[in-house]
Amino acid sequence: MKIANSIAEVRKALVPVRQDGRRIGFVPTMGYLHAGHLSLFDVARDDCDYLVTSIFVNPAQFGKGEDYRNYPGDLERDARLSEEHGVDLLFVPPVEEMYPEPPLTQIDVRELTESLCGASRPGHFNGVLLVVAKLFNIVQPALAVFGQKDLQQALAVRRMVKDLNFPLEIRIAPTVRDPDGVALSSRNSYLSPSEREQATALNQALQRARELVESGERRAARLVEEMRSVIREVPSAEIDYIAVVDADRLREIETLNGQVVLALAVRIGKARLIDNTVLQVN
Ligand code: AMP
Repeated sequence: MKIANSIAEVRKALVPVRQDGRRIGFVPTMGYLHAGHLSLFDVARDDCDYLVTSIFVNPAQFGKGEDYRNYPGDLERDARLSEEHGVDLLFVPPVEEMYPEPPLTQIDVRELTESLCGASRPGHFNGVLLVVAKLFNIVQPALAVFGQKDLQQALAVRRMVKDLNFPLEIRIAPTVRDPDGVALSSRNSYLSPSEREQATALNQALQRARELVESGERRAARLVEEMRSVIREVPSAEIDYIAVVDADRLREIETLNGQVVLALAVRIGKARLIDNTVLQVN
C-alpha cells in the first residue's frame, strides 16, 4: 500500500493505473477506522481493480463548538487496517494541502440538505460536498462508496454527482452495527461504558417504529412519538431530531407511503449520534 500526503503524489500514482485501464474505487473517510469503513472498502474492492481511500478530518464540515479539535484519530492503526483490507493507495493530506487558501466556491445541494442534519448543522453539507468534490477531482474514481449510516450525506453527494456530471457511480452500503444494534461510529469512542449502553436506544427506537409500521401504522406523528418515548427512557439522552421523511427528498411527511426514512440524531454525553432506517411502505 502506498501512502500519499500530497495531491501531486496521488495523481502521479494513478497515471499508470489509469493507463492499464484499471477501474478505480474510492472510499473517503475521516479515519479512526472501524468495521463500517472496512465494509465500504470491501464493496469497492469487489467491483474495482484498485482501491483508494482518503483520511481527512475536513474542517469545512464542522461548525463552531463542534468536535473538530477533538475528533479521534490513530493514523498508524488506520494505515495497518487499510493495508490489511486491500487499500492500494491511502491519501492523507494535511489541511494546507486541501485548503491552501480559504475557498470561495460553495457547493449547495438544495432540498436534500435542508432537513435532518442540515437543519441542525448549518453549513455542514456545504463543507462535505466541497471536500468530496475536491477528492473526486483528485482521485477521479469510477466508483465511490458511502455508508447508509450517513444517508443524507450519501444522497446529497449522489445528487451533486448527477447535477454536475461527475463521471462516476455512487454506491450506498448498509450500516454496520455492533451485536447490540448500535451503529458503528468513530464518535462512539467519546462514550463512557454507561453511555455506550444507553446508545442502544437509537436503534431500539427505530426498531420499535418499524414494528409499528409492520402492524399497520401509517401516521408519521405516531411513529415520532413512539421513538421519542424510547429515547426519553435514556437518562443522558438529548434529542436533536426525530423525523419521518420521504426517501426521495428527505422532506417530512404526515402519512407513510412508498419509500420512507426514519431518522434520528441524539446527543449522549459528548457524542452526537445519528442513525436511520429505510422502509418500503405499500
Ligand atoms: P466518516 O469517517 O465517519 O466520515 O465515514 C466515512 C464513510 O463511512 C461514510 O460514507 C460513512 O457513511 C461510512 N460509515 C460510517 N459509519 C458506518 C457504519 N456503521 N456502517 C457503514 N458505513 C459507515
